[in-house]
Amino acid sequence: MATHSHTHGDAHRDTRWGVFALHELALTESVVAAVSERLPGTRVVRVRLEIGKLAGVVADSVRFCFDVVVAGTELAGARLEIMEPAGEARCRQCAAVSEFNDLILLCGCGSADLEVLTGNQLLIKEVEVG
Ligand SMILES: [Zn+2]
Repeated sequence: MATHSHTHGDAHRDTRWGVFALHELALTESVVAAVSERLPGTRVVRVRLEIGKLAGVVADSVRFCFDVVVAGTELAGARLEIMEPAGEARCRQCAAVSEFNDLILLCGCGSADLEVLTGNQLLIKEVEVG
């Protein structure tokens, strides 16, 4: 009976975050920590990230996590911009290079054996200080 309320008690995070929530939260914390460490004592007004479509990161979740993570830090109130360039992958069977917007990598020849060329990057592209 002691564990009765456990299910609800632990579900304190918004369910909109979905299954990727912890991944994106940890990632957002890393980005914020990296900016804070490199620009100590600086007020940051804008952070621009590049998250490739094949990075396996849900940009909307990062946007949602960002405001929560920056609260009370030097980045509080900073605007987050995320660019999501498409990825490219080369088929190992027929060598064709195709553009992909999600992680379902399937070549026109039917092969699913593809090598990702670009699109799995996560970069801090720009930090604007004010
Ligand atoms: Zn192919």
